[in-house]
Amino acid sequence: MRAAVLRQGQMTVRDDVDEPVPGQGEVLVQVEACGICGSDLHFVHHGAAMMEVGARMEGTPDLGRTPPDLSRDVFMGHEFCGRVLDVGPLTDGPAPDTLVTSVPIMVTATGIDDLAYTNLRPCGYSERMLLSAMLTLEVPNGLPATHAALTEPMAVGLHAVNRSGLHAGDGAVVVGCGPVGLAVIAALRLLGVAPIVASDFSPARRNLAVTMGADEVVDPRDESPFAVWSRVGGSRSMATFEAVGVPGMLDEVLRVAPAQSRIVVVGVCMQPDAITPFYGIGKELNVQFVLGYDPTEFAASLHSIAEGDIDVAPLITAQVGIGDVPRAFELLADPEEHCKILVVPSR
Ligand SMILES: [Zn+2]
Repeated sequence: MRAAVLRQGQMTVRDDVDEPVPGQGEVLVQVEACGICGSDLHFVHHGAAMMEVGARMEGTPDLGRTPPDLSRDVFMGHEFCGRVLDVGPLTDGPAPDTLVTSVPIMVTATGIDDLAYTNLRPCGYSERMLLSAMLTLEVPNGLPATHAALTEPMAVGLHAVNRSGLHAGDGAVVVGCGPVGLAVIAALRLLGVAPIVASDFSPARRNLAVTMGADEVVDPRDESPFAVWSRVGGSRSMATFEAVGVPGMLDEVLRVAPAQSRIVVVGVCMQPDAITPFYGIGKELNVQFVLGYDPTEFAASLHSIAEGDIDVAPLITAQVGIGDVPRAFELLADPEEHCKILVVPSR
C-alpha cells in the first residue's frame, strides 16, 4: 500500500509498504484524514537533534518505547481519523465501518509504542494503519473525518489551558497564532476566559485568531500584546501562553508579563535558550511547561468539536493526497498560505 515516509531527511512516497494485519487487540482502519503537524516539519529537519535531547533527558517514565532509527524509513502522522475495516482475532473493538480516532499510541505486549515517529508500523500518512482497539473513540454526531482529525491538535490547546490554572472571567495573552496558539485560543474561549489578546506577525493568522475567539489581535511590530493587555485586561488575573517556541521568546515574555502571573510554555523550542531569572524573581512569575494531553482531554476535545462548541473548519486550509505530502511539507513553511493541511489518502 501507499504511505509517505521520512527517508534520509526527506519525505518520500512509497507504494510498497506491507499491508498491516490486525493482531489481537488491534483494529485495521482506512485512514480518512490526517493533519500535518508542525512537530513533523521540525522532525524532518531536526529529528536527530530532537532524539539526542530526548536521550539526555532523565526523570521521564520508561514506557518501553523504541525510539525511531533515522537510517531506516520513519512512519509519521499522528493527527488521524479512520474507518474500521477489520478487527483482530479475539478482540472486542468497534464494528467495521465505524469512524474512529485515537490517541497516537499503541498498547502492545511489551509496552507502549508511539504512532507519531516510528519504524515499526504505518501511521496516519498511510492508506491504512493499525490502532489499539481499547484506545479507539467512535466519532460521534456524524462529524466528518476531516474535522475529527483536528481532535489531537485541539487537545494540545485544551491541556495547556487546563494547566494554566485560569478560570472563567480571567484573561489571557497568546503569543503566536500557529495551530497550537489557535488551539489554545479555542480552549480559552470555551472556558469563558476574556479578554483574550493574541499576537502574530501574519495577518492571516491574526484573522484566524479572531475566528477562534480572540477579543483583540495585534501585530507585535505595531504594539506589544502586553500593552494591549494593560488597556483591555487591566489588573485582572491572567496567564500568558508562549506558543512560538523560538530562542529569546521566553525571555521576552518574562520581561514584559504582568507581575504574579503565570506563563504557560506551549511552543516547542529545541535549542538551548538563555533567560534572565531576575525578570521572574522580580515579578514572582510562575512558568509552567506543558506537553501533549491526557486521554480524557483528547476525548473532551473530540466532544467539543462534535458538539459544535469548537469549529475547526476555518483551520483547514488544504487537503492533499499521500502523493502530495512532500510538497505539503514545503508549503507549510509559509504561514500566510496555510494553517492545517490534511492528508486525505483517498484523494
Ligand atoms: Zn501534533
